Amino acid sequence: MVTMDFPSCTVKNPRMATELDSRSLAQLDQQFCWHPFTAMQEWCDPENEPVILVRGEGAYLWDANGRRYLDGNSSIWTNLHGHRHPKIDEAIRRQLEKVAHVSYLGTGNEPASLLAAELIGLFPEGTLAKVFYSDDGSTAIEVALKMALQFWQQNGSPEKDRFVAFGNAYHGDTAGASSLGGVKEFHERFGPVHFPVLRVESLEELLTLPELKAGRVAGVVIEPLVQGVNRVRLWPEGMLSRLREVCDEHGILLILDEILTGFGRTGTMFAHEQEKVVPDLLCLAKGLTGGYLPLAATLTTQRIFDGFLGTPQQMRTFFYGHSYTGNALGCAAALANLSIFREEDTLRRIRLLSECLGKELRGLAERSPQVSEFRQLGLIAGVDVVRNDGIPFEWEERIGFRVTGKAREFGLLTRNIGDTITLLPPFCSTEDQIREMVGAVEKAVEAICTG
Ligand SMILES: *Cc1c(COP(=O)(O)O)cnc(C)c1O
Repeated sequence: MVTMDFPSCTVKNPRMATELDSRSLAQLDQQFCWHPFTAMQEWCDPENEPVILVRGEGAYLWDANGRRYLDGNSSIWTNLHGHRHPKIDEAIRRQLEKVAHVSYLGTGNEPASLLAAELIGLFPEGTLAKVFYSDDGSTAIEVALKMALQFWQQNGSPEKDRFVAFGNAYHGDTAGASSLGGVKEFHERFGPVHFPVLRVESLEELLTLPELKAGRVAGVVIEPLVQGVNRVRLWPEGMLSRLREVCDEHGILLILDEILTGFGRTGTMFAHEQEKVVPDLLCLAKGLTGGYLPLAATLTTQRIFDGFLGTPQQMRTFFYGHSYTGNALGCAAALANLSIFREEDTLRRIRLLSECLGKELRGLAERSPQVSEFRQLGLIAGVDVVRNDGIPFEWEERIGFRVTGKAREFGLLTRNIGDTITLLPPFCSTEDQIREMVGAVEKAVEAICTG
């Protein structure tokens, strides 16, 4: 048997003792860390100087070199009211003085109860009625899938065991959530651990599914109004309300993934409000805590909840949970997030900023021959870049990646999806900051898309 000596826990790593300079921070990262969705050979290349963020305030972030950036994608779509918002900071500090985390299995806690009540209060009476907490978008989806499946099993329709998802959908990266995913580059390779999903490109195709007529479909999962990861692709107007009707006609649960679109991003508190429909299951995460802490929630109706009632011996319990379910700090942050919406008239601000963003993007598209198209809904935008002659770049050129890399030199941090540059400004941005963000994209496109 091979045995190994482990460094003693009492030996302190001397490098940890003092505040590190930017070079040492970058080295630590490159030596020990593995980043999501990141080509690590390129990242670890000595030529690459990773940006290590050390501080934020409002729409700004600072790196270890003291360079300032606008947070053009709201820290991967999570942040809403800016960094270090005094109300959220304070709410977390206050909760910390009581308790940070307690088990949600067998006990409840104060902020989790208050938050559940407030969340349910955001929907018309008699619709969504119960909140099931988890940790992030992917787990909110896992909860919805398992809840739907078990609901049908114990409520007279065990044959309903299939899920429908749409082409190019993105619902997260855990095995269950990525089974629903339709982005080839991300999802295809994990086929062996995926469950089978009925994938359709449109509502029309959904109507042709034999499983639909055979009553086999448990639920349909969709990002309402806009598919974020699918390069900010908008659904046709009316599609969602028609989908709701189809689900009702066929006894199918409508599962909405509002992990990106929830909490004002599209101009209304939730995207589905715009088509006046209510889901059977609603998945929330990213912006739930204002972008502060990992917390997610799957909301559902009284009908689904009642389908799990019975004596313990009847075994109708929902056997699902995580160690951090109902995290008190996260719930306290989320309560503060919602209070900011009320007190600062955030939705009005979002609508004004959305107009400003649209105007700036129209200007950019008119001026720049390398911008072929942009798509926008509220404060979600995607800008497609192409060659001078209007032809798309070869994907190997990684033009989008290089454009967002270049934009850092002009003070903007954001992400590309292929050759689509995304902009999802925090709601605290000023109109000047929105103009600066679009300006940085324009300069970066000019510098990179010379071909
Ligand atoms: C980000 C995202 C997810 C996954 O959320 P995680 O918190 O990253 O697990 C799921 N669906 C949509 C629409 C998202 O944008």
